[in-house]
Amino acid sequence: MQVRLLEATEEPERLVCQAARNDYMEGYVGETPFAEVMASIDGDSIEERKETLIHRLLAHGHFGPFEHPHATFAIEGVSRSCMAQITRHRHASFDVQSMRYVEFDEEDPEPGDVYVQIPELDEAHIAGRNAEIAAENKDRSDEELLRRRRERYHESIEESFDAYNELLSLGVAPENARMVLPIGTVVNMVVTLNARMLMHVADIRSAADAQWEVREMTNQILDLAEGWCPVTFEYYNNEMKGRKNRLAP
Ligand SMILES: Cc1cc2nc3c(=O)[nH]c(=O)nc-3n(C[C@H](O)[C@H](O)[C@H](O)COP(=O)(O)OP(=O)(O)OC[C@H]3O[C@@H](n4cnc5c(N)ncnc54)[C@H](O)[C@@H]3O)c2cc1C
Repeated sequence: MQVRLLEATEEPERLVCQAARNDYMEGYVGETPFAEVMASIDGDSIEERKETLIHRLLAHGHFGPFEHPHATFAIEGVSRSCMAQITRHRHASFDVQSMRYVEFDEEDPEPGDVYVQIPELDEAHIAGRNAEIAAENKDRSDEELLRRRRERYHESIEESFDAYNELLSLGVAPENARMVLPIGTVVNMVVTLNARMLMHVADIRSAADAQWEVREMTNQILDLAEGWCPVTFEYYNNEMKGRKNRLAP
């Protein structure tokens, strides 16, 4: 999996401040120099004033101004399961690689290339749901357990890809042959989120109880967001950490 920032609003935090100050200014924000817009906010420099205002907005739950700046991310190699989870968020925009026009006709599918590799194939004991080893497998060593998991996982996926390829060769359209492919088949996406939505998605999807893949993807998005909108996301990551749903209405 990799996530890259494709495009983002320039000077996002200046925009947040302009939008927020608009609510309380007598003058027209479109014609007022930024230094004047920020004059009533505490701070010795414009950067300090931006920080004061952004911290105050986040602390008081005034999230509306964070809907103006937005960022677009290119995501490579996540599963269709991860895609199904992230596309539930209705205020984000998506483009998803098509299975109608892109064929997955690999003869020998490789993990990471056409399907994702799950962490349980490399670690015998991961805390979480179903971490308890079933009675019939209790006597297996960790090595044996991992070997059997890998065998079962890869066998099953290879069988699905074989069936898919055979259906294509029998004249079935890719958008119908795909029905036999596993939910772990990889997909590339382009996602656009505004800063408020990005924090909301992070609330839910980078939480400890989120599924590992969507959590890893969201954490990569959050790292990039911290470079893009530093005051906002440093505050979000450090000061709002303890709250379960930090931005949920
Ligand atoms: C661990 C986990 C397990 C899950 N399991 C399931 C499951 O089994 N089945 C399932 O269907 N989903 C499941 N979900 C998805 C979850 O229920 C939400 O649909 C998804 O996370 C989208 O988030 P959201 O509801 O905050 O909406 P978003 O689309 O992200 O919207 C953001 C906010 O806008 C508001 N909003 C948006 N649209 C509306 C609307 N139409 N009406 C009123 N308010 C609105 C809400 O306040 C919402 O919180 C799961 C999510 C997680 C994290």
